[in-house]
Amino acid sequence: MGRYSASVCRLCRREKIKLFLKGSRCYSPKCAIEKREYAPGMHGQARQQKLSDYGVQLREKQKVKRIYGLMEKQFKFYFKNASRSKGVTGVALLVTLERRLDNVIYRLGLAASRAEARQVVGHGHVVVNGHSVNIPSFQVSAGDKIELIGSDKMKERFKILAEQTKDQASAEWLTADLPNLKASVNRLPQRSDVKMPIQEQLIVELYSK
Ligand code: SF4
Repeated sequence: MGRYSASVCRLCRREKIKLFLKGSRCYSPKCAIEKREYAPGMHGQARQQKLSDYGVQLREKQKVKRIYGLMEKQFKFYFKNASRSKGVTGVALLVTLERRLDNVIYRLGLAASRAEARQVVGHGHVVVNGHSVNIPSFQVSAGDKIELIGSDKMKERFKILAEQTKDQASAEWLTADLPNLKASVNRLPQRSDVKMPIQEQLIVELYSK
């Protein structure tokens, strides 16, 4: 699957919000949005035109896609499934995105960004309920037991990272036993567990056109 390969900081500047795509740099004064809070490109500093309703909805969708590092096709697939679910579509969409295994690894602080978490999963370092899972989109369920595996060097790296990110990593629906590189899913995430400023209703409106 294709991936965005240019500077991810441009994405934050486009959305005018920190999307936390680059690990520790996002929390430092080196963060590009701290230094240049305007859209990238030669017209980035030009007076911004007021966005149409469609433009606002589109930006919101792009923002969420970028937070979770998804391509359009995959995002649409999630939306389609969410719209078929019994609950509120926008909430169901966010809950599904939060339940992705790569997001869980990131939320536990075992990777500095969701992109890195995707690599950790893809490289076979994650075991769920005793089975190796290398699919970043794997949906965790309540009661799942998660464990990180790898060489002693890798494990040490995970522990150091977890220590560094412990103040940023907080998800009430997960319980972490980081010294042992283990975690469990206490319950499914709820809307209130998604801390990024997202107006999911705008995405529902966009796709309902
Ligand atoms: Fe976004 Fe992080 Fe880059 Fe800042 S450092 S602009 S938060 S990706």
